[in-house]
Amino acid sequence: ESVFQSTPRAPPDVIFNLTASYKADTFKDKINLGVGAYRDNDGKPFVLPVVKKADAILHQDPALDHEYLPIGGIPTFTAASARLILGADSSAIKEKRVVGAQTISGTGANHLGALFLSRFYHPGAKILLSNPTWANHKAIFNNVGIETIDYPYWDAKKRGLDLEGMLNVIKSAPEKSIVLLHACAHNPTGVDPTQEQWKQIAEVIKQKNHFTFFDCAYQGFASGNLDKDAWAVRYFESQGLEFFVCQSYAKNFGLYGERAGCLTAVTSTPDAANRVFSQFEKLQRSEISNPPAYGARVVNLVLNDPTLSKQWQDDLTEMSGRIIAMRKALYSALKKLGTPGTWEHIVTQIGMFSFTGLTKEQVSVLKSKYHVYLTDNGRISMAGLNTSNVEYFAKAVDDVVR
Ligand code: PMP
Repeated sequence: ESVFQSTPRAPPDVIFNLTASYKADTFKDKINLGVGAYRDNDGKPFVLPVVKKADAILHQDPALDHEYLPIGGIPTFTAASARLILGADSSAIKEKRVVGAQTISGTGANHLGALFLSRFYHPGAKILLSNPTWANHKAIFNNVGIETIDYPYWDAKKRGLDLEGMLNVIKSAPEKSIVLLHACAHNPTGVDPTQEQWKQIAEVIKQKNHFTFFDCAYQGFASGNLDKDAWAVRYFESQGLEFFVCQSYAKNFGLYGERAGCLTAVTSTPDAANRVFSQFEKLQRSEISNPPAYGARVVNLVLNDPTLSKQWQDDLTEMSGRIIAMRKALYSALKKLGTPGTWEHIVTQIGMFSFTGLTKEQVSVLKSKYHVYLTDNGRISMAGLNTSNVEYFAKAVDDVVR
């Protein structure tokens, strides 16, 4: 008899479970559209050319060691991360109102931000999450005792943004709530507000004195342009709002397993920024002591070197370009087949994911009859498509929706 005899069994993680089923499938034309990781046109993981270069440079450095990083991470990495998201000419940076801690990728940034807010933001404040959102958001905030409220986001009929529903819930939430916003390339819908819509969202947040929590896991992946993908965050700064922003280098650097990320705080005063940073360090110390070094070293090298930064931008253009090409290929294949329904959203949505509108039942047939793996909500990772499998996938979709 164990003391854990009655520990409730947790359900397996949906995405990781899906990948396991895909791996176990022996069908030769199987497709994995579940996992949010970039694949090249041969369906293989992609090591960015700029990361290969940075690897080589790091390995040649005789001074490279395996010492601990500072608790808050590599200072030049966190500074460069702030410049990347806020822009090199950010007034908040110039006025020293910005601090950042290196975290365990985007998940760690979300966690550290959540933990900090649970201790130092208005007690009892709830966080507003888009419906749907990244499956981990709810768990991360609930883990630190912050309750979540859903705001409408996806309009199934329109296959687009439910701006009105979203604004209404943000407006009716208690003052000083926390609002989580995906900075770009919303996961799972691939639908982002337009600039005009962002302005309306910022206005409501300002009116209600809410605190904004940006999650930015795909900068450079949405439009292919780093500055364009940072527009919303920079607009919020220009409006004098205080906010946190979580950055992940998993997708845009292909550093998934290296766990490189950053939590940046933009505050109104340098004094507040320093106070916040002191608590980031204190919390981080007891949670992870100090962050992992390798991925952040790669990113640090690239972000602080103009030639490598330029190469990175080229790599991003290549990845986002292939994804956009796959959107077009899927759309035209469905058009050619005369597949019932409207499919324009496949080309208008951006980033790694597309919310197809396929039902749970249709997804189930895709899996059992066609060996195509995707989540029950009909989300597909565009990166799982390539020139060899897109026709097969289109035919499968055509069959299940008829
Ligand atoms: N936020 C969002 C919205 C995401 O999609 C992801 C990646 N799936 C993350 C955060 C964090 O990922 P990671 O911890 O791998 O950086």
